[in-house]
Parts: sequence; structure tokens; C-alpha cells
Amino acid sequence: MRSRLGKGLLAAVLIAPLAFTGTAQADSPGNSVRKLVRAVKGENVKRHLKVLDLIGKANGNTRVDGTRGYDLSRDYVATALRLAGYKVTIQPFEFEFEGYKTPPVLQRTAPEPKSFAHVTEFNEVGASAAGAVTARVQPVDVVLPPPATPGSTSGCEAADFAGFTRGDIALVQRGTCGFADKVANAVAAGASAVILFNEGQPGRTTARVNPAIGENVPVPVFFTSFGVGNELATKPGTTVKLSFDKLVETRTSYNVLAESRWGDDDNVVMAGAHLDSVQPGPGINDNGSGTAGVLEVALRMAGHKTANKVRFGFWGGEEFGLLGSNHYVANLSAEEKAKIALYLNFDMIASPNFTYEVYDGDGDVFGTPGPEGSARIEKDFQAFYTSRGLPYKASEFDGRSDYKAFIDAGIPGGGLFTGAEKIKTEEEARIWGGTAGVEYDPCYHAPCDTIKNIDDTALDVNSDAIATLMGTYAYSADAVDGIRTADPRRTAVARVSGDGHGHGHDKAELS
Ligand SMILES: [Zn+2]
Repeated sequence: MRSRLGKGLLAAVLIAPLAFTGTAQADSPGNSVRKLVRAVKGENVKRHLKVLDLIGKANGNTRVDGTRGYDLSRDYVATALRLAGYKVTIQPFEFEFEGYKTPPVLQRTAPEPKSFAHVTEFNEVGASAAGAVTARVQPVDVVLPPPATPGSTSGCEAADFAGFTRGDIALVQRGTCGFADKVANAVAAGASAVILFNEGQPGRTTARVNPAIGENVPVPVFFTSFGVGNELATKPGTTVKLSFDKLVETRTSYNVLAESRWGDDDNVVMAGAHLDSVQPGPGINDNGSGTAGVLEVALRMAGHKTANKVRFGFWGGEEFGLLGSNHYVANLSAEEKAKIALYLNFDMIASPNFTYEVYDGDGDVFGTPGPEGSARIEKDFQAFYTSRGLPYKASEFDGRSDYKAFIDAGIPGGGLFTGAEKIKTEEEARIWGGTAGVEYDPCYHAPCDTIKNIDDTALDVNSDAIATLMGTYAYSADAVDGIRTADPRRTAVARVSGDGHGHGHDKAELS
């Protein structure tokens, strides 16, 4: 049964594609690409984002895989592409959903009630146990203000817990020994829950750390920013309520694939974006932005009878470890892989405090080049920015997003990025504007990644970049893929790259 919102959205989709009819006439490729780029308008890209934002709002502020918010996102994209004339395939796959039933809570109940913000101020540690605890907080050998250089030994020795009251919540500062040791000592001392907090030196302040706490920890464990930990430690008589309503179960997610009914089957030019969000937020920058840019370009390309076949992938399960794109590539035959001339990936293309970043396809900056042809893609993106008089920098081509499966299969890859949880430098602020000392996306993976978390200029410019490269390669990809693409001799490159987790934020830290 569809909700009222579902019907409304579907109606919006049914009406909207009337505006998406491309211009289908014989034209020079260069002219066609220029027309395509002109037809891709920022305001129309933004319209897709508004729909995704509404879907998030109506579905518990998330579009994570295995929820109604994801399924409606899938339906929106699939319906629009179908109505535009593409051959659309929905590819389901099962995955292990790891999250929660209700959002994690961290509140101070005394001396002065206060709620802390999930993701930006605190995070549950997924490997810990479910639980709801209200108890007194006991700081364990914390050093406040923090030492000038990392060196706190809070919770590293069993002796730190001498005098610890069983049933209290242990408040433990990062530093020196492993998180797993600190947690094991707290559990042995009878802590009902453990709050780990960042140590406090520059670069060690945020709540965005995923501590490796070991297995079978029997109590809930949270990680907070230095600010929250400091606040809890320094107010005498602090009690806290925390809850982690953990949920782990097998669910189904989906890739959406759309392919042109025209063009050379042996020369498939692909672009893709992940369609899922994390559970804590609706993911409008991450990755509504890439989704909307690729979708709008696809809709505007419909009807351009290009020489090559074009295919668009909207991936599920990226945030659970690049699952959808891995599933897709793993199920291609060697012949099908060889027919894919190249793959362009777009993940976070409109960060509010953005820089323009191009994947380092030739490896000259980060030392990990992509398959042959990736260098050319990078140059073509750079040429796009140069043509607009815009500065760009290299983005590490490290397997942090859905291009990983493609480049691992030897398919030339490239793409764009505008920054996530890292901090913009003074120099970057001079070059691109925005605010130094602040994250490129302060709402990265957070509940506030809504329609307000988008830079409209970056969204518009980068959508034009997608149109420029997809349009160009749809007429000829030979410059990238000089070897005929049907050649099954194209071999996979061995790479040591990412851990297969969304943007690497999930990478567990040992200490
Ligand atoms: Zn992403």
C-alpha cells in the first residue's frame, strides 16, 4: 500500500518527465554536447534533491537501504528514467543491516538537562551491546585540560578504576593504549556503559571516530567529541541517560540501472552515484547531490542518438561497504566488463564548504593511478574547470566510493568530489572561498544533511561537468579507452586500496 506521500511523489515524477525531452536531431558531437550542457540546469538538479529531501522527511529523516525512504528514492529515479525512455533494471541484493530501531540518545539528566547531537557530538559504537542506562558518570583518570601532546592514559590500567562504583557510566579519555583495553577495564570494573571521548589536541577533537573496541562487549559504548567529554567530566554530580536500540538483520537493497536503447553495445559509457544515505540522516549532499546530477544528465541525454551506449547506475549499500556496486560488477561476465569503456562516479558534488576535486586518475599526487585511461578522464575534468576559470585539486583515488569495483576490474575510472569530514585550510578558503577551519561538509553523515546542506553553485557547475564528459564520451570514448573495449584481454589491475566503507569514516581506529 502506498502512503499519500508515495502517490504525491509518483504524480510529481509522472508530470516532471514531460519537461525532460531531449533534442533528437543530427548535429555535430561538439554542438550536441554544448546543447546538452545548456539543458542541464542547476534548478532542475535541485528539484530532484527537493524530492529526495521530502522522502527523507516523511520517512524518519533517512533514506538508508532497507527502509521505505530508500525504496521511494529507488522508485523516483527508476520511474523518471523509464518515462524518459531508458531500459531500466532493478537489481536486488541482500545485505546485513547494522543500525538501530530508534536513534541513539545521549542526554545529561543532571545537574542541568541537555541533549547532545547524534553524529556531530556523539556516536554509538556499532560493535557494542544494545542498552538503555541512566546513571552517574565517573571520569576515569582523565587529564583536563588535555596534555599538549597526546598522552592521556585514562582507563589504560585496571588501577585507574580503583574506587569505581559498579553500575556507574565510565567516562574515559582517548590516549596511549588501545580503545579495546580501556573498554575491557571499564567492563571488568562493572561499568553499566562506557563513554569514550576524544583527547582534545588539535585534530583530536571531533566525535567522528570509530573506535575498535573488540568483540562481545556486553555494555553500550559511545564515542563523543572532546567538548562533550570535557563537559561531562568537569560538572560534579553529572548523570547521563543513554540508549542504543541496536538492530542487526538481513535486508534487501537495490541497484537501479538505466541503459540507452541506442548506441554501440560494445562501447558502453557509464556514470553512477550511490543512492543510499546513512541511517542518521537523509543524505542530501551524500549522496543526493551525485544522484540528482547524474539523473538530470541522464534525463537530458535521452533522445540524443549518441554513437555509444550510455548506462547509468544508482547504487544501493554504498554506506554499508560499497555493496551495490560490488554486487553489480561481480555479476558481470568478462565480456560485459570489457564492453564498459569507462565509469564515472559522483559522490558528494555539492558540499556546503566545498572545494572542486577531481579523482587523481594518473596518480601524480597520491601515487595510486587508476587503469590506463583514468589519466585522460582526470585531464578532461580539469579541462572542464579550466574552461570555466575555476580552480581544482586532486582527490585521492583510493577506493572510498563505488568506482572501486570498476577500477579493480581494469575499467578506466574518474569522478568528482567536493569534500566530506575533513577541515578546509586557510589556503583553500583563499582559493575556493568558504570557511577555513570548518569541515567541507559539517553535516556529513549527520541528521542535518538536508536540502539546506547544499551549495547551489557547486551543484550546478558539477552537473555541467557530468554532462560535458558523459556527452563527449557518448560520442567517442576512444581517447580514454584506446584499446577496443570488446577486447577481453583487458586485465584487472592489482591494487591495494580502501577498506570498502563509505568515505572511509567507518575505518576503525585502534587507539
Ligand atoms: Zn557518499
